[in-house]
Amino acid sequence: MINNFNYLRISVTDRCNLKCRYCEVNPSAKLRPDDILSFEEIAYIARLTAQMGVKTVRITGGEPLVRKSITGLFKMVSEINGIEEVSFTTNGINLDLYASELFNLGVKRFNLSLDTLDRSKYFELTGGGRLEKVIDNIRLAREIGFSPIKMNVVALKGINDGEIFDFIDFASKNGLILRFIELMDISANAGEFFSRHFMPVGDIKNIISSKYKLSPCTGGANECGFKGAGPAAYESCENGLKIGFISPVTSHFCDGCNRLRLTASGILKSCLLRSGETNIMKMIRSGATEEELKKTIQNIFDNKEKARGEFSEKNIMFPNMSQIGG
Ligand code: SAM
Repeated sequence: MINNFNYLRISVTDRCNLKCRYCEVNPSAKLRPDDILSFEEIAYIARLTAQMGVKTVRITGGEPLVRKSITGLFKMVSEINGIEEVSFTTNGINLDLYASELFNLGVKRFNLSLDTLDRSKYFELTGGGRLEKVIDNIRLAREIGFSPIKMNVVALKGINDGEIFDFIDFASKNGLILRFIELMDISANAGEFFSRHFMPVGDIKNIISSKYKLSPCTGGANECGFKGAGPAAYESCENGLKIGFISPVTSHFCDGCNRLRLTASGILKSCLLRSGETNIMKMIRSGATEEELKKTIQNIFDNKEKARGEFSEKNIMFPNMSQIGG
């Protein structure tokens, strides 16, 4: 049995309909259809992990809502015994295509990535994305009943640090939970972008505190009135908004990490930044038994302890976030 590792994050594709500058997809690195997990394989792995303690599944990418017939996968995963919650992370562009169907399948919450509220900046930062589409889709998702919707903003010095109060106003008006995330130096060409635009969470808090008092939710997300299983530290903003701060760079959250990650290419990882890789897809395709697979999964769980703190020792470089799934 797997201690407290109860959260599985599944990247269903390395493709995306945006090209965010800090998460740039290298077109030549696109996986071929045969090299990504099928829905049946994903559901099989999810079922095995559920038997070992996983209760929460998040579907991510690339952009999960660009994978064909994606609602079929949500249905398969939702029906697995032991899985209590399925959610997803999206850039919101294709939400209108699937929101109602997902909600009817029992998916009630999602995280939305949105790094600027300025139309032309959004177009530039995302390589051509239309901000109006995302905003319309947030409205639609709220009308359908999704809650909570967490809006994730990667803090980018010189790009969106002048919009912090706009984000607060926008999240407050639209009933969103706002979360600021530190930029990680993780993608192939990130070095220069990172050094130019990295902004520590402490700087964001200082800016907010110049206008609003922030008080830590000492009891975690629950004290803030909603459930949160992730690495965010929540604070209550004087205007009533709950704001999460995720600081993978300035303060590691390895100790509280309860998750495993499955990449679209079938690699089960105990840590976003750990290089040890086990390709479960290849094992399945070469005929591994359920017992062998479970033993491998158990080993990955067991080795997670060793992974803790590794990020603090050295900054391990990965091809890019769109392959791992954020
Ligand atoms: N396409 C979906 C989306 O946009 O939410 C899901 C995948 S995306 C890789 C998941 C998250 O990773 C997004 O919130 C994105 O902002 C974040 N991300 C990507 N690269 C990052 C980086 N270098 N540092 C911090 N967050 C990053």
